[in-house]
Amino acid sequence: MLDNYGRSITYLRLSVTELCNLRCRYCMPEDGVCKKRHDEMLTQEETVMAIRAAAALGIRKLRITGGEPLVKGNIVELCRQAAAVEGIEEICLTTNGTLLPKLAAPLREAGVSRLNISLDTLDADKFRYITRCGELSEAVAGIEAALAGGFDKIKINTVLIGGFNDDEIPALADLTRRWPVDVRFIELMPMYDSGDFGPEAFIPYTAVTDALPELVPLPADGSVAKLYRLPDAQGDVGLISPVSAHFCAECNRIRITADGKIKPCLHSSDEISIKGQDFDAMLETIRSAILSKPRWHGELSYSARSHANRNMNQIGG
Ligand code: SAM
Repeated sequence: MLDNYGRSITYLRLSVTELCNLRCRYCMPEDGVCKKRHDEMLTQEETVMAIRAAAALGIRKLRITGGEPLVKGNIVELCRQAAAVEGIEEICLTTNGTLLPKLAAPLREAGVSRLNISLDTLDADKFRYITRCGELSEAVAGIEAALAGGFDKIKINTVLIGGFNDDEIPALADLTRRWPVDVRFIELMPMYDSGDFGPEAFIPYTAVTDALPELVPLPADGSVAKLYRLPDAQGDVGLISPVSAHFCAECNRIRITADGKIKPCLHSSDEISIKGQDFDAMLETIRSAILSKPRWHGELSYSARSHANRNMNQIGG
């Protein structure tokens, strides 16, 4: 389906929980989330119905995210049901990786084709700091389990944070030599409450090309990342610049939160509820949400914060 600016909307990011087993400083508050009532969240039946309605409107790619999708008890069954929806061609899942040693093989078998695994540092102390509680070894074990479980095209997502991990850009990019994975550096976004990072933390993607002059540019692949490759690497380095060089003109996505709100734009406060609706009503609500998608997300910077009135764990990154 085309939106009002001629963009073809084919990609749904579906958050299945706000809960997480980590507490990344830029993503959620230290004390986690105020747990919503069960009846405020989409049921599994409603979630699958929403995927069916979105697919009927032309959604072809589904990303399951959160919160941490792997803390959801029925995640494998949900992925299996999503994979069976007519029209859905690709199911991707974004995770912090720590539960993949148990779940990588069942997810693959259920029909998940791609994994994005978040990893902001290769230093165990810094990992514990940024996640407020996590163990680097568990995230690394998750990446290894995903590789062993038959996932190819794994992407490592690294949020670029000035003064925190800009000194690790070469080491993180070098993961594309150590494993057959892509590494994506993503600019830190100034969300509603994304920690107490100062202006120096919001560095542009060019910090990566400055740190790695040996990066060879690659042709665009239709994604929002600017692509490069290190000599002798097995995967690409991608740079995603929502803050310094937005890509709203190519945005092909809508989001649905775990409590059933459609977000036509990540950084807009607009939310349209599908909770409690039947299939036909969901279809019409998703259609009108696509038609209300704004042209761009507006200025974003340390001082011009996102208009989304939620943290990333409550939206689905
Ligand atoms: N728990 C999963 C994970 O860690 O990947 C999935 C949810 S998390 C919200 C999805 C992605 O959003 C992660 O790659 C995370 O780094 C990114 N993210 C969260 N807050 C962000 C922010 N303020 N700026 C940029 N990326 C952010």
